[in-house]
Amino acid sequence: MYDIIIIGAGCAGLTAAIYASRAGKKVLILENEGIGGQIATSPKVENYPGFSSISGMEFSDKLYEQADALGVSLELDKAEKIIDNGYTKTVKTEYGEYECRAVIIATGVKHRHLGIDAEERYIGKGVSYCAVCDGAFYKGKTVAVVGGGNSAVQSAIMLSGLCEKVYLIHRRDSFRCEAKLAEDVKAINNIELVLNSTVKNLEGEDKLSAIIVENNDGSQTKLNAQGLFVLVGQVPENSNFADIIALDESGYIIAGEDCKTNVQSVFAAGDCRTKSIRQLTTAAADGSVAALAACNI
Ligand code: NAP
Repeated sequence: MYDIIIIGAGCAGLTAAIYASRAGKKVLILENEGIGGQIATSPKVENYPGFSSISGMEFSDKLYEQADALGVSLELDKAEKIIDNGYTKTVKTEYGEYECRAVIIATGVKHRHLGIDAEERYIGKGVSYCAVCDGAFYKGKTVAVVGGGNSAVQSAIMLSGLCEKVYLIHRRDSFRCEAKLAEDVKAINNIELVLNSTVKNLEGEDKLSAIIVENNDGSQTKLNAQGLFVLVGQVPENSNFADIIALDESGYIIAGEDCKTNVQSVFAAGDCRTKSIRQLTTAAADGSVAALAACNI
């Protein structure tokens, strides 16, 4: 029997674990992918207070080390269902089930796919969703990044230091990322901006060799590239809990700044909940709010 089960070992989940264990609670974290969540795949974090520049991986490692040193338990297991027994909750997982008094859902978000037919065919054969994880495979080669947010632009900048050439494909002519990043990317010689353009098709026998992009005027261009890094935002994955937890039309858990869901003693923290700003700082803030609320039940 745990006091608090936290689903997800990203920034929100690990922050919640640190707060709850420091309050003397018996805490279990369930994580079905990598420790650190999305930020572990970010080349650089330069907007978290206290760190002028740190890799996403190192940031995640530090968070986990802090939680681990406090005695938090971690199971690499996928939470598949939450059962509300009233006073207690049961979390059913792929490999077992766990009882607790309170649950904090901190499942974050997953990579959005482009949704074109060829995309799935080339995953692992040229198509990637993480420059930090896969960038080294493309050393000295030509790659493309698609997207115009922080993830895409940071990844293009990172890849420009490894690859011979980087195309940055974006569907508009202005970037969504921080102004500083947009300025930096324009100044890098081996990054070519392909603006007002969308990816239409992918070509290559066994592995990706070319990307067909369509400009807003309807003209098509073939870009020869061995890699395509798809960084077009994120989508939540909360459908496992939808039988009892209320989600909005996009699949985010309906919860306000107090992180309370429609089920008593079940909280939602970080990117998985309805909110306007999804940043590391707001994930950490949610983790602490949800943990302190869960400690008080
Ligand atoms: P994002 O900010 O949502 O940007 C997604 C980009 O992909 C947008 O430019 C969007 O175009 C484009 N896009 C969406 N769907 C597309 C499609 N089907 N085809 C082509 N392009 C498409 O996503 P993100 O960059 O992954 O960032 C997510 C959140 O994490 C943001 O809040 C971001 O600030 C944060 N983040 C922070 C850091 C950090 O340094 N701390 C690092 C990475 C991310 P439009 O612009 O036209 O909509």
